[in-house]
Formats: sequence, C-alpha cells, structure tokens
Amino acid sequence: MVQISSEVSMDKLVSLCKRRGFIFQSSEIYGGLSSAWDYGPLGVELKNRIQRFWWREMTQLHDNIVGLDAAIMMHPRVWEASGHVENFTDPLVDCKQCKQRFRADQLEEKALAEHKCPHCGGELTEPRMFNLMFKTHLGPVADNGSLVYLRPETAQGIYVNFKNVHQTGRVKIPFGIAQVGKAFRNEITTKNFIFRTCEFEQMEMQFFIHPSEDKKWFEHWKEERFEYYKKLGIREKKLRFHQHGADELAHYAKIAFDIEYEFPFGWKELEGIHNRTDYDLKRHMEYSGKDLSYLDDGKKERFIPYVIETSAGLTRTVLTVLSDAYTEEEVGGEKRVVLKMHPLLAPVTVGVFPLVKKDGLAELARDIEASLREDFSTFYDQGGAIGRRYRRQDEAGTPFCLTIDYQSKEDGTVTLRYRDSMEQLRVPRDNLTGAINKAVKEYKRES
Ligand code: ATP
Repeated sequence: MVQISSEVSMDKLVSLCKRRGFIFQSSEIYGGLSSAWDYGPLGVELKNRIQRFWWREMTQLHDNIVGLDAAIMMHPRVWEASGHVENFTDPLVDCKQCKQRFRADQLEEKALAEHKCPHCGGELTEPRMFNLMFKTHLGPVADNGSLVYLRPETAQGIYVNFKNVHQTGRVKIPFGIAQVGKAFRNEITTKNFIFRTCEFEQMEMQFFIHPSEDKKWFEHWKEERFEYYKKLGIREKKLRFHQHGADELAHYAKIAFDIEYEFPFGWKELEGIHNRTDYDLKRHMEYSGKDLSYLDDGKKERFIPYVIETSAGLTRTVLTVLSDAYTEEEVGGEKRVVLKMHPLLAPVTVGVFPLVKKDGLAELARDIEASLREDFSTFYDQGGAIGRRYRRQDEAGTPFCLTIDYQSKEDGTVTLRYRDSMEQLRVPRDNLTGAINKAVKEYKRES
C-alpha cells in the first residue's frame, strides 16, 4: 500500500460526499439553493456523532458545566443589547461590471486600493455596511412591532438565561453553560462547500467566572479546546492558533484566539475562544432592567461575572473531519479512497458481508449483523465482489468490516478487516463486540 495523498481538493470531497450520501445540495431538483446543504444518511450520522462527542466532552466530563437549548427566535431587544443590530455588519462592495459581490475586508489590498474587481477587473463601488442578521416577522402583520431576528449566534440564549440556570441548576461560579444549535447569518460570500453557509450549527460553551480569574480561565479553555481536536482524531500538524489583532477583535471581545485548521483552501477558523468580559451581561442588565449580578455567599461579594466563550462550528467541524480523513492510496495497482476518521465518528462502525449469498452464508451474516446492532451501527452488504464492498465502506469511513465465509460455518470465526491498515484477523464470533470496542478505544491514526 502506497499513500498517494492525504490532501484533498474540494471538488473531490464534494463529489465523494454526494456519491456516498454525506451531503447534498439543498433543493437540488430545483437547481439548488446557493450555499445551503442537506445532510444525507451518512452526513447526519457524522454530524450527530461530532455533536455527541462535543457534548460529552463539554458537559458529562465536567461537574460544573450544564446544558441548555434556547429558542432560535428571541426578543428583538436582545440583539440591540448584544450590539448585533449596530455592529454585526460586513463591508460590502459590488462590481459595477460583472455584478459580483465581495466583502471589502476579504479583498486583497491591491484590489481595494485600485477599486478593481478581482474577478473581471471592473470598477468596484465604495464599501457599504451590511447587517448579517436575517429578519422576519412574528404573527400575521409585518410591522415593526412584530420584527424578530434569526439568531446569528447561540451565545445570547445562554446569557439571557444566566440567572435562570444558576438559580435552578445548583451551580456556583466558575461554571459553564453549553448549547448546540442552529445560527443564521446573511453572509455575503458563501463558498467552499459547507465552510461558510447562511444556515449553520454552532457548539458553544460560555464559562462564567470571577473577573479577576479571566487570564487563568482563558488559558485553560484555549488549551483544552486545542486538545479536544486531537481527541477527535484531527492531525495535529493541521491545527494551529491564530490570535486576533486589534483590528479583528469583535465588539465584545477583550482577547480572542482562533483555532485554525488547514483546509484545502488554506488556514481558516474552526473555533473561536474569546474573553467577552462582562460586556454581554452588563448590556442585558442595562437593556432589560434586570439584575444579572452574582452573589458569592462565601466571600459575601456581589459582582458581574466575566465570560470565557468557546464557540465552535458544528457544520464546519464536519468539513474538517472529512477533509482531514480523506486519503488516496495505491493498492495493488489500483487507487483506494479511504476516509480515515476516528471510529467514534464514523457513520457506520461495522460492515458485514457474506462471502457469497448461497449455502446459508447470507443467513449467517444477517444473524451476526443483528447481534451487533445493539452495540454498533452496522451495514449489511451482499452485492458484488468482496473487494468492491470493502472499497465502498472505505469511502464511507467504516472502520471495521466482517466477512463471513465457509469456515465461519464450521468454526464460528469471521474475518475482521481494519480500514486503515487493511489488516485481516480471524476472530471468534463471540469475541467480536469486545474486539471492536477495544479497537475503537485504542485507535490511533498512522498517517
Ligand atoms: P468569520 O469572521 O469567518 O465570519 P466569525 O469570527 O464571525 O467568522 P464567530 O462569530 O467567532 O465567527 O463564530 C464561531 C464559529 O461559528 C466559527 O469559528 C465557525 O466555526 C462557526 N461559523 C461562523 N459563521 C459561520 C458560517 N457562516 N458558516 C458556518 N460556520 C460558521
């Protein structure tokens, strides 16, 4: 086996995602809706597994982080208080000739200075500020009184529930609130597949602390979150930090680091870790007139907590996992495409194949598959040559495949084949669950 490449082009990835049922263009039969994507049978499994992995990591493994699921639509004053109505804008420029739109802050300096379109060389308009929040109306009358926004971040649902959670959740500062959910931004440039879309999912954990401890907790979460991506099976050489300069800082942030991944189109943000100070709680106190301060019983001190935010993109992590996993190898003169993702994330954990359909092998394979369903997600396939069946599962990222042959009928053993190394072992049927669980736990990517 010779590795051809562990780098993927976006075209290849988009094509594999469609071919195997990970991700489809939204409303495809109508010609598609730009920048909106649907998660197919394998895609939804992958996305759910990433979400579960994050949730376990951020709630179950901590005694001071609790969960929340707030509504997408919130009182419109929330977005005035948060600063989004005023500040959540991007500078938009249009090309007068080809009508393409760009974010002025993403244009190269030369194009900006010369007002020349990077696409056709035409003249660009002056930048105008454009708010990224989607607006809609609650109720039948579309007047100003019924205006609501689709949330552009999940964080505000956490801040406005801060008091509810700490009063009912028996949590004391420092503590965190975790949430996963959809967010919406009317992005000017949406390209690179699911990297930047107008509808996406975030996984956010807001950690409430005493203001004097902000440096300590910022460092803590910055390191924890970097380690998390390694646990997720992402190659470390593809991960790095990027500190926001003064010109990049969001209106609420005192200090911000991004965790970046090297996508096929370059190093880009995957998650942001921000010290949001007491900005959000203070603003909500001001706009709602409610007291959101915290009383430390022990020290008899009342204060407004600072917030360290860890804000990751769920759909962007799907792209990260897929890009990182994609590998091309040459095996016996043929190309093999394999997704080397962590077995915990793989949509199908075990593929089960009878060598042939006849002589009772299909029935035996079905029976083995049924016995594994309780513990693993399985996929039964009896169609085509065995090599072809392995290749299909390699492309789906299935870490283990079982082949049931004539020997299985005699001695109750089956062939267990590992995705990454293609190594094959004979394992007694009764030991399969243990062997697979062990291999999942001990998984380490070689290349
Ligand atoms: P950018 O500057 O690239 O627009 P941002 O810095 O505004 O992004 P944050 O507000 O920090 O992004 O959002 C936190 C995370 O949410 C990002 O790291 C990213 O993973 C995800 N995210 C933000 N916008 C989008 C989007 N349009 N599509 C997909 N994921 C997104």
